[in-house]
Formats: sequence, C-alpha cells, structure tokens
Amino acid sequence: MFFKKFGKRYIIRLEKGEEIIETIKSFCKDKDIKLGIVDGIGAVDYLSIGYFDPKNKEYHSKEFKEPLEILSLGGNISTMDEDIVLHIHITVSGENYMAFGGHLNSAIVSGTCEVTIEVIDGEIERKFNETVGLNLLQL
Ligand code: ZN
Repeated sequence: MFFKKFGKRYIIRLEKGEEIIETIKSFCKDKDIKLGIVDGIGAVDYLSIGYFDPKNKEYHSKEFKEPLEILSLGGNISTMDEDIVLHIHITVSGENYMAFGGHLNSAIVSGTCEVTIEVIDGEIERKFNETVGLNLLQL
C-alpha cells in the first residue's frame, strides 16, 4: 500500500493481493488512528460479506470468488478492548452490472483500491449490547 497525508486525511492506495480490512487496520495501528471515517472505491476478486439477522442476532456470511467492482466502501474506525475496530460496508457489482453488498468481512484487491481515511481526534469505544446483539458505539 501507498499513502499520502493531507491535513487530517490520508489518501491510500491498496495493491493487488492485499486484504482490505487487515491492511487498513494495521495502517490505523501504525498511525495511531483510533477514530475516523473510511471511504473508498476499487476492485476485488475475493469478497466475504455479512448480513445481520436481527431476529436471531447472528451474522450470515457469503463468499464471492469473482472479479467485482467496488462501487462504494464506507464506514468508521473505533476501538474495542484496546483493539482497532473497522466497521465497513461495501457495495459491489460484477459483469451483469447488478449491485449488491453487505457488511465487509474480507476482500482481496484485484487491481487497485483507493481509500480515504479522515482522522477524528478522540476515541469511541464499542461495547456488546445484548438486546441488539451487536457491538455498539458508546456515545
Ligand atoms: Zn455492519
């Protein structure tokens, strides 16, 4: 990956073969980014996305092993138990131009992935909420 910093924003270019979540997470650890906004576009050839079933309070996930355009990637950076948490959702499309997406578990860059991170000074911790079944932002 390559990056340039402009004020509180980083412009990042992920390279072919890099896994998006792990690469951004380790970048955040490296730069001590604990709170921020993530935005991006690009292309992947492996994707694992999740769908949260609110009734049963569990995630279902599905894998795609095909070339896909990232139409939109967005989410936030927070912390939980001393670790960085990336909460990112993704919308992609394939050769039929139909869009689909979900909660981003994992994705491998095929051509490029252009990500912007806007750093926010501060820190917001997540905590598991039993009623909802998710790790919610503690505001
Ligand atoms: Zn999600």
